[in-house]
Amino acid sequence: MKLVIVGPPASGKGTVASKLAKEFGLTHISPGEMLREEVIKKTSLGEEIDKYISKGRLVPDHIVSDMVKLKIREHPNFILDGFPRTLEQAKILDDFVKVDLVIFLEISEETAVERISGRRICEKCEASYHVKYLPPKKSGVCDRCGGRLIQREDDRPEVVKKRFEIYQKENSPVVDFYKKKGILKEIDGSRKPEEVYALVKEAVKARENV
Ligand code: AMP
Repeated sequence: MKLVIVGPPASGKGTVASKLAKEFGLTHISPGEMLREEVIKKTSLGEEIDKYISKGRLVPDHIVSDMVKLKIREHPNFILDGFPRTLEQAKILDDFVKVDLVIFLEISEETAVERISGRRICEKCEASYHVKYLPPKKSGVCDRCGGRLIQREDDRPEVVKKRFEIYQKENSPVVDFYKKKGILKEIDGSRKPEEVYALVKEAVKARENV
């Protein structure tokens, strides 16, 4: 299976993608995570990337697309989380590989802002928590690996605002592109996590049987 998941920041893309990956034996490809790793390594490419991420802007299409293509070559069964984010990226992906299903997780900006303000991630394994809705067993410590929980730099309110503005401008053409192809499934991401996942799973299974 070749799956894509799109949606606004904090719509739950990462959580759903990692569950799907486990259950359906897919590789979870997260360009956001790959880009952050590059920044941490402090390579010259990482420094270039940081200029965009820290301001909440999108990293240029060619940089992200090249990283994604490389990963897909190694892992032909995948779930892509947060790519494509522009129409140009959708076209590049479409020329490279045929996607089976695109899940569009929708949430309002209000819900997203609330989720982001309480979001904490593990600095080691990137597992995601929420101070109110999904707290770790021990405050500030990752349940999975014991790493320290931090707030992502680009989850600061002023950066979040920019990320949302860009999302609103760039995402509709991506959604339309896949709608026209008849492979888009819209799911209400504001429901409870287990309900969202059940709906997503149903859509994936239906596609699997086609
Ligand atoms: P994410 O972890 O998916 O929320 O992504 C974090 C940040 O990485 C975004 O705000 C962008 O700066 C960058 N990024 C992630 N995915 C993409 C993409 N497909 N195209 C361009 N930039 C991206």
